[in-house]
Amino acid sequence: MTTHQGTPPPIRLDSSVQLMLGKHLLTCLPHEACGLLLGTAAAGGILISSYVPLSNVAPDPLHAFVPDPSEWVRAMFSSPAPIGLFHSHPTSPPWPSPADIQGLIALGPEFRVYLIGSPGQGGLQPPALNGFIISRESGADGPQLLHTGLQALLK
Ligand SMILES: [Zn+2]
Repeated sequence: MTTHQGTPPPIRLDSSVQLMLGKHLLTCLPHEACGLLLGTAAAGGILISSYVPLSNVAPDPLHAFVPDPSEWVRAMFSSPAPIGLFHSHPTSPPWPSPADIQGLIALGPEFRVYLIGSPGQGGLQPPALNGFIISRESGADGPQLLHTGLQALLK
């Protein structure tokens, strides 16, 4: 593995996935939505080709997310493989919270991507989506999130 120089490469995702994320986010309001991102991570970059929505079983789903454990286990055997996690911030911008950063430690090394979505301003704009690469460089105290661009691909 080489270390990242500057900005990491953009995350590519099928436009169908982008639509599914926005839809799930809006369907779950006012609760946080969460789910697994499936795809491939190679030297050439990361491609997200499908999305598995999961139930949020957090005691306080307005301000936290805990994916349903049985759905999580089932989804971990999906194809292509889960390589990332998505969740939404119903009332705040799509940037990682301290709890989000702390939660990274629970994700296995197969998790490379972290996406956060928020509803559009005043419900008039389309949902906002931010993409991050999960960086596990040695020397850092725990995994970090590196903000990067998202490229929606039309099929
Ligand atoms: Zn969050």
